[in-house]
Amino acid sequence: MTTVATPRLSAYDVVVVGGGIGGLSTAACLAKAGRTVLVVEQGSGPGGYAHAFTRGPYTFDPAMSVFPQGHPGGLPVALLDWLGVADRCRFVPLESNYRAVFPGFELETPFGLEEFTEVHCARFPRHASRLREFFALCKTLHKQAHELPPRLGLRGLEDAVARFPLLFRYLKATTGEVLAEYFDDPLVRAAVSVSWPYLGSPPSRLDFVTFSTVLNVYLEGCFYPDGGFQSLADALVAGLEKAGGELVLGRTARRIRVERGRATGIELDDGLVVEAGTVVSNADATATFTELVGEEHLPAGFVKRLRRMTPSLSAVIVFAATTMDLRAAGAAHEVFRPLHVDHERTYADILAGRPGGMYATVPTLASPSLAPEGEHLLVVHSLAPYDIGRPWAAETEGYTDTVLKSFEDVFPGLRDSLTFLETATPRALERHSRNRAGAAYGWENTPGQTGGKRSPHVSPLPGLLLAGHWTQPGTGSLRALVSGMHTAQLAQREAGQPPIELDHPDFPPAA
Ligand SMILES: Cc1cc2nc3c(=O)[nH]c(=O)nc-3n(C[C@H](O)[C@H](O)[C@H](O)COP(=O)(O)OP(=O)(O)OC[C@H]3O[C@@H](n4cnc5c(N)ncnc54)[C@H](O)[C@@H]3O)c2cc1C
Repeated sequence: MTTVATPRLSAYDVVVVGGGIGGLSTAACLAKAGRTVLVVEQGSGPGGYAHAFTRGPYTFDPAMSVFPQGHPGGLPVALLDWLGVADRCRFVPLESNYRAVFPGFELETPFGLEEFTEVHCARFPRHASRLREFFALCKTLHKQAHELPPRLGLRGLEDAVARFPLLFRYLKATTGEVLAEYFDDPLVRAAVSVSWPYLGSPPSRLDFVTFSTVLNVYLEGCFYPDGGFQSLADALVAGLEKAGGELVLGRTARRIRVERGRATGIELDDGLVVEAGTVVSNADATATFTELVGEEHLPAGFVKRLRRMTPSLSAVIVFAATTMDLRAAGAAHEVFRPLHVDHERTYADILAGRPGGMYATVPTLASPSLAPEGEHLLVVHSLAPYDIGRPWAAETEGYTDTVLKSFEDVFPGLRDSLTFLETATPRALERHSRNRAGAAYGWENTPGQTGGKRSPHVSPLPGLLLAGHWTQPGTGSLRALVSGMHTAQLAQREAGQPPIELDHPDFPPAA
């Protein structure tokens, strides 16, 4: 990586604020398309939530654990290939899908929608026909959401409603509402929706179309980038630099400059002005509009809606290393550990500052080089609000203890086998990423804030576009990557430049 501390030029075709996966994917695409591109990243390395940290011999991802569609022929691999850097990031297929350990029962799930459905049917035979109908519905919604054109006029909307009646029937539904429609047994409802922490909201709040889409995409198979998610970020940087683009690290954009009603560049932390034909923000959406741009440059209605939107939950993350042979102990790459069968009780725990929405990930199963031989990394994600009404620092020790105790039941002897332990709170996530309140997933995935209702790529300020998990299509590293590609395509169109010619059936991606 040949990153510099100061931009080489005073003006670029495109300046990207933030070097998360979304910003890097936009930048690499635009550089490859021949534009002059600068990425400004406040952190010490690229990747945002993908930017790894090391402690002694251990390398940890700060947040992410699974990546869908890493197979040859998938859009992410096609992108890296097109950028000429496919050899920089090897996606390791995960051996199995998640294991879920509830109080009193557990479930091990395979990849493949059919296999996944049948595991549930075998565990809950009385509900088999409803289970098959439910998962078939999830598949249909996923397919229809994928086929829905990104922008619909009035006529287009009428056609779409006629073509996709099921999608429109469930467009405003929460996952909890649909679970109640299909299952009368709380155990079945809990088992079917145990992966909700991947999307940050309990079934009562979680958009059902988003749940269906993510479930289906994940069931096609999940991957882990060998060496950690940093290798995905580094591959995108390599693609950017190979095409002549620049990344500046450790520099903060403090303003997006507005002249004659248009974004014309940015101002860095030391006052240095960098001009740009287009500015792309990968940063927190609220900070982008209210701090970097300034409300006075935006329509009042837009700012009002922005202020009404809610960010997703943050997380407490327990980073551990252990000498326990976790493979022999039955670990899957992901192990969900609900302490209650009722996910809404878990959500109440989370809001009260207690562990909940927990899942452990063991990245060394897929990528052993992250720890010395004979050791595994075990990282537990637990959803958490930013503000629990008391200082997180005073809570961390007790919180960590409860998390470890919960996994001691799954891996007896875990605590005695630990060789490293550190806990990050929502404050640390906010510092690391500058996402408001340490939000893990951008806007909360409620029906009113997903799909076409998420902040659009094209902002109301001409010359300013968004990329990443605050904009469409939504949450997660894959969607941040896809979002960046879409933003690059839009930036080309807005500048009257030829379209990006990446030949793949999913590109340009649907918003
Ligand atoms: C605990 C946790 C677990 C997760 N697990 C998964 C998972 O397993 N799989 C998955 O796909 N997703 C997962 N996610 C979600 C995923 O990490 C995010 O949705 C995705 O990484 C967002 O990428 P992004 O590019 O939009 O933004 P970010 O990664 O947030 O990057 C934004 C970047 O902008 C920079 N920045 C902000 N403001 C400025 C400024 N003014 N000047 C310069 N730079 C600035 C930040 O430093 C940061 O690098 C998880 C998230 C968390 C927190």
